[in-house]
Amino acid sequence: MQPDPQYRGRFAPSPTGPLHLGSLIAALASYLDARAHGGQWLLRMEDLDPPREEPGAAKAILDSLQDHGLHWDGPVLWQSHRAQAYQQALDTLSAQGVLFRCDCTRAMLGPDGACAGRCLGRQADVTTPCALRVQVPRDCNIAFCDSIQGHQQQALGHALPDFVLRRKDGLVAYQLAVVVDDAFQGIDHIVRGSDLLSSTCRQIFLQQRLNLPTPAYTHLPVISDARGQKFSKQSHAPALESGTAPHNLRQALAFLGQTAAPAELESCRQVLDFATTHWMPSAIPREMWIAAAAP
Ligand code: GLU
Repeated sequence: MQPDPQYRGRFAPSPTGPLHLGSLIAALASYLDARAHGGQWLLRMEDLDPPREEPGAAKAILDSLQDHGLHWDGPVLWQSHRAQAYQQALDTLSAQGVLFRCDCTRAMLGPDGACAGRCLGRQADVTTPCALRVQVPRDCNIAFCDSIQGHQQQALGHALPDFVLRRKDGLVAYQLAVVVDDAFQGIDHIVRGSDLLSSTCRQIFLQQRLNLPTPAYTHLPVISDARGQKFSKQSHAPALESGTAPHNLRQALAFLGQTAAPAELESCRQVLDFATTHWMPSAIPREMWIAAAAP
């Protein structure tokens, strides 16, 4: 692997529950890719959506990462402290004339969640509370190359003629916050689960509008459980036990198709050092879904 000391990666969990095997895989892959390049690995807590948060989850996630030897560089960036930066980005977009207010109820929106310009022609009559949406030009096509999933493209102007940047309840949308914060943290490589693949074109669109750089993307296959459901908190994935941390790391490495660390390497540090030296992104399985329970 070519050293790249400028490399800056990140893990950006939402505090909706404790770490489970699926989130450990994303954390580990982003960590190893950063460390194998000799780069930095940053942590951002995406605590932007209080109604979805679980009390104590942010601390539990940070403790669990440390217990697995996944130590990050620099201070944690908390999205709950970033309201001003998000407002600045909204102001920039507003000055470009691409934002509009939308008071549609859920029932009025299209199947893709788009207002489809219904509110655009009646801005003076839009009642509050209202959402703030960005208009996507009809001919807007976004393409990028994902290092695992290959060439990706979306006719964004057709698929999503507008999308929400600030919700009706006043909360800033993930799509905007992630773009503002990745740029703020200088992230140039994003390694995350492929459940976020469908968001990426919206994020690249916002990067272009805000004149921010587009990072390199790696979307990892998402683990499905035996019933074919995403292995997630919603599907009752169990929280990781810190007492079995080295074993958890080995399990995550197996899912990532990496060489197993020799049995005599017992500590998390030893397993992580071995995995960093032997990191082979090309061995990560290409499928979007791995229809298997934990090995
Ligand atoms: N906070 C998001 C999640 O936990 C991940 C965001 C990202 O990696 O872009 O699903």
